[in-house]
Amino acid sequence: MRVPIPGKRLGWLFALVVLVPGILLAAIAVRSINREEAYIEKQLEATLLAEVTYLVSLVQTELGRIESELADSAPIDPLADPHQAFSGWRGASDLVTSPFVLSPLFEILWPRGNGNLDAEQQSFLRSNSEFLSNRVEVPVFEDIALAYKDELLPAEQLEEKEKTGAVEKQLARSQFEMSEEIQEKIYDQAMQEGLKAQSRVLAPSAAGADQQPPPSMFISRDLRLVEITKDRDQGLVSRITDNRLSLLFWKKLGNGQLVGCVVSDTELRDRLVGLIPDVYSAVRILTLVDEHGRPLMAPEESEPRDYRRPFVARECSALLPLWEAAAYLSDPGIVSSQARRIGRILWVLICLLFVSIVVGGTLVLRAVRAESLSARQKTSFVANVSHELKTPLTSIRMFAEMLKTGKQGSEGKRQKYLSLMVSESERLTRLINNVLDFSNMEKGRKQYSMEAVDLADVCRELIENQRPRFQQNGFQLELSVAARGDADDERVWIQGDAESLKQSLLNLLSNAEKYSGDRKMIEVAMRREGSWVYLDVMDRGKGIPSDRAERIFDEFYRGDDSLTAKVRGSGLGLSITRRIVRDHGGEVLYMPREGGGSIFRIQLPVADIS
Ligand code: ADP
Repeated sequence: MRVPIPGKRLGWLFALVVLVPGILLAAIAVRSINREEAYIEKQLEATLLAEVTYLVSLVQTELGRIESELADSAPIDPLADPHQAFSGWRGASDLVTSPFVLSPLFEILWPRGNGNLDAEQQSFLRSNSEFLSNRVEVPVFEDIALAYKDELLPAEQLEEKEKTGAVEKQLARSQFEMSEEIQEKIYDQAMQEGLKAQSRVLAPSAAGADQQPPPSMFISRDLRLVEITKDRDQGLVSRITDNRLSLLFWKKLGNGQLVGCVVSDTELRDRLVGLIPDVYSAVRILTLVDEHGRPLMAPEESEPRDYRRPFVARECSALLPLWEAAAYLSDPGIVSSQARRIGRILWVLICLLFVSIVVGGTLVLRAVRAESLSARQKTSFVANVSHELKTPLTSIRMFAEMLKTGKQGSEGKRQKYLSLMVSESERLTRLINNVLDFSNMEKGRKQYSMEAVDLADVCRELIENQRPRFQQNGFQLELSVAARGDADDERVWIQGDAESLKQSLLNLLSNAEKYSGDRKMIEVAMRREGSWVYLDVMDRGKGIPSDRAERIFDEFYRGDDSLTAKVRGSGLGLSITRRIVRDHGGEVLYMPREGGGSIFRIQLPVADIS
């Protein structure tokens, strides 16, 4: 009976169940590596945009706070005592510079041009008198999404609760930002209605490789002061004078006059800078950028940075057109280097996965093969042992029956039959001993009675016992002992179990007999070298091919099929021999013999008996 080795089928199964899904997974992972950069950039963009948007909301709140602060501290009747009123106002708020008063008909009542104006007042009037006296129009900015919210959010689409200010603003803004098509349509409509669009100063790079700044979200219409102040009691107006953006505060007084001031540029910038949560982090620089593309606050860096090209940015407020809250990557290569790092880690993981699949698969395959090989060997072992038991039994029975009939004739023949019966029963005993020993060794129950034994004596005794049988089978069996230089003492003492040692040597002798072929010459040579004794069993058989030389010591292993088919055996002899010798602290080796044949060498440590 043969148990097939399932190597090939298992190989296919392994490929199907492990390798193919593994390759598919790896392919997916490789694809995701390529998308990693875009993904990281998107994630970073979203995070930084949230920070920037938060900063914008802080700026807008601060502008509202500035307006209230100025309105609350403004004098009620400044012209009663202008000097005292305005110095009181300045004292109440650092934001106040160049205070002014206008009559209900927009005549400048303060500062009055009677020749004693200071430099600040003179430059103020130079830049603003035309505007304050309502003679020129200035651009007033507003959020395009809010100006056109009715187009963006038709009233019937809104639920009642959404019609309140903040929600409506946000809805209009997100509707506007949703598609470029809508933006284009609204911009066109605004242009047709005489509104002016402008370009932003900054060109965020996360949005794309486009170097051109996109259009601003703020559009302007030209208005005179009378129109600006028409429907409200107080407010801020942004003015660009001398190529600089400044804020102008105004408030209507009870007597119809208008009091106001220029918002201090340094104080405004200081307050806004104070809003930035944390200018510099390991990932980004977060700051506010003015209408000239200059940061209000920036960390010192070794390389000059192009502040017009942030990673993400948002415009601040209609009151500060062209000012933006912007985030810059601290290290511009961070996205690609991070993607590369993640990519590298993924590659390493994929390689590890593959190596472990291949190594693990190979180990499993090997284990399964070894297991099935051993199953096959065990099966043939049972067949071999049964055969080995049956053959000598059959011969013993046959000779015994012949002796019983008493027809064998001569005494010589009778003796021959008897000695054949003895040798066959010896063979039986050897086989049964081997099998029993093997099972004891398997269970770890093999017991040795160790004592000082003379190995030369053990060998001599065994060989003398065996010689007649070997001679009968046509073998020449020689023993030579070279124990020590001095011929008087041929004894070689070792610590061992004489019976087990005999069994080992007998196994080697019986193999030499079985596998010798026609050249029936067996030599056993013993020699002592230092603290070792070497016992060589040499035959002139076919020898063992080098690729099998180690495996012959495995349990159940039987050599070449064609050879072993002819020669009976259990595949246990050598493994038991090796086990016994190793238990004695020695080793059994195979060596090819010069001139053909095998040498099996038992080497054992010599006991120190003085
Ligand atoms: P068995 O002899 O019962 O098959 P062993 O464990 O004694 O089992 O030997 C294992 C194998 O080693 C044998 O089947 C045989 O192929 C090979 N072998 C052992 N001794 C010799 C020898 N002296 N010459 C050639 N081959 C040998």
